[in-house]
Amino acid sequence: MIAGIETGGTKVICAVAETSAPGNIIERIRIPTTSPAETLGTVRSFLDRHAARGTLDAVGLAAFGPVIVDSSSPSYGWITSTPKPGWRNTDVPRALGLGDTVPLQVVTDVTGAAIGEQRAGAGAGFRNVAYVTVGTGIGAGFASDGLPFLTRSHPEMGHQLLRRFPGDDFPGICPFHGDCAEGLASGPAVLGRWGRPGELLDASARAEAVPVLAYYLAQLLAAVTYAVAPDRIILGGGVLRIAGLLDAVRSQLSHLVGGALDAHPLTRPDSGYVCSPALGDQAGVQGALFLARDLVETRSPLTAA
Ligand code: ZN
Repeated sequence: MIAGIETGGTKVICAVAETSAPGNIIERIRIPTTSPAETLGTVRSFLDRHAARGTLDAVGLAAFGPVIVDSSSPSYGWITSTPKPGWRNTDVPRALGLGDTVPLQVVTDVTGAAIGEQRAGAGAGFRNVAYVTVGTGIGAGFASDGLPFLTRSHPEMGHQLLRRFPGDDFPGICPFHGDCAEGLASGPAVLGRWGRPGELLDASARAEAVPVLAYYLAQLLAAVTYAVAPDRIILGGGVLRIAGLLDAVRSQLSHLVGGALDAHPLTRPDSGYVCSPALGDQAGVQGALFLARDLVETRSPLTAA
């Protein structure tokens, strides 16, 4: 048996599957992210219950960051300098009771989602896929041939600095930078600007919000495109529930990049280059299960070295 865990900023999803069938989830739980002790204690109980009925062969963990993803580090799997109350310097593997006996693969939540979507969702059939989520925070993950990009740390594209929308004087909500992408266009930024979550904006607030958010998110996707040149960008998260935002981002991206990438699919807004997730909020946990299955075969976690 294998387990996949996605620890997100607002919820944790945990699932188990037979080792031979990672795409076929046997049981899944979804719990709110509260304190590390309460949240990870519930996940540990779930894992213990299943482990008691058989062997837990490996675990995939797709965690919100910053998280140590270098498997050679003594702090592998620790959540580090997060502004999330109570979670700074949390030893997640220890809190889950994994010890040294259960192989563990750690990636970020968005990397897990990129892998899930590439192997079984909207990125299927494409070699290089980016997954960008715009919700409680903004993050980007990348999958190449079903595997994460392996570097010393992990991407932090939510903190990309952007050009301002003309006349926008909102200070931004990022505790580190104020007006980075996350500070200007995440769910909490929408709440701070317009007083309610994106999906609850009325028509006039929406008419104001969509061009501003599209301007910022298109710049972020332009940076992803220029830096990584993926075949597909999967764009998800709660903020994308704002009616008309996805199309506005596609159009703005095409406008922004324009002639710099002549004949690139993104220069046609209807090309599908920027698309919605197919697995919804299950992408991260599904990616974690695929990585756990890989780990049973390779026996040691992926490493950047
Ligand atoms: Zn920032």
